[in-house]
Amino acid sequence: MSFRGIIGHRRLLSLLSRAIARGTLPPSLLFAGSRGIGKRRAATAIAATLNCAHPGSGSTLEIDACGECPSCRRIARGVHPDVVVLEPGDSGAIKIDQVRDVIDRANYRPFEGRRRVVIVDDADALVPQAQNALLKTLEEPPSASVFVLVSSMSDALLPTVRSRCRPLRFGELSAAEIAAILVRDHQYSESDARAAAAEAGGSVGLALEARGVDVGEARDAAQRLLHEIARASDPARRLEAARELVGKVSGPNRERDYLAVRLRALASLLRDLGLLAARTETPSLANADLQMDLNRLTDAFDGERTTRAFDAVDRALVALDRNAGPKVVADWLVLQI
Ligand SMILES: [Zn+2]
Repeated sequence: MSFRGIIGHRRLLSLLSRAIARGTLPPSLLFAGSRGIGKRRAATAIAATLNCAHPGSGSTLEIDACGECPSCRRIARGVHPDVVVLEPGDSGAIKIDQVRDVIDRANYRPFEGRRRVVIVDDADALVPQAQNALLKTLEEPPSASVFVLVSSMSDALLPTVRSRCRPLRFGELSAAEIAAILVRDHQYSESDARAAAAEAGGSVGLALEARGVDVGEARDAAQRLLHEIARASDPARRLEAARELVGKVSGPNRERDYLAVRLRALASLLRDLGLLAARTETPSLANADLQMDLNRLTDAFDGERTTRAFDAVDRALVALDRNAGPKVVADWLVLQI
């Protein structure tokens, strides 16, 4: 976790790096800006750079963490004793006990590192009493400690908390920056990443959420489609199922992404149907929780039909990747399987 490993925010990161190099980093910081753009990563890079055993430098970075030393590795794994992350628990709130605990620990010297860094993620989730309990510490942090509050809704923080922190506003990421992150960190293909980034509104978090929300729903849609197709030989009814598969989303990139997620779910179900059709003794299904339902489909989808359908889905995904229109692809597919 280093400054150079963060995509985007160059000016702001070089500012932070210079402040660390010159010993002028304010001890209480507030990172504001949209969700999912790298604020917490930047806070972690501060912690790594402050504690790195062999810090280096780069063209726009006066100092940066090496990413290799034991301290950097432990920070990346989230197990460094001097880097404390406070975040909302199951209740969705950061409670006063959590804050008191962190304040107590901040008063001791760091265990191993040079500086203790306390990162409060989703700081707007601090209950008001917890915010009040933090005030004195934010105003005069213990000498070896740095507090970084991270928030996508910093306006929701008490004015007294905001006024005690140096605010830094992180701007939106460009579509190219988001695409680069999706490819590097989230196993997107170049074309999927470009499509997702175009709809992500400047936030990697939103791009990933869009994908995350779709997965379960996509599987339901794929399952419904298989049942529909198993029953309906009439092309008109099949084309109706295609319309449902494409769904009602706006924007051609969004449509393509949406359909691609559904097609991958469909491929996964068909692979399982293939295993069931082969009457393997103990098939290891990707969708084991749906086995009962898939068993009901094996009458309609025998081995041969399943293989043909799987190939068709594969070809549909390739066509989507080559910019074929989502509606055309879905119509073609439902008539093949
Ligand atoms: Zn290091």
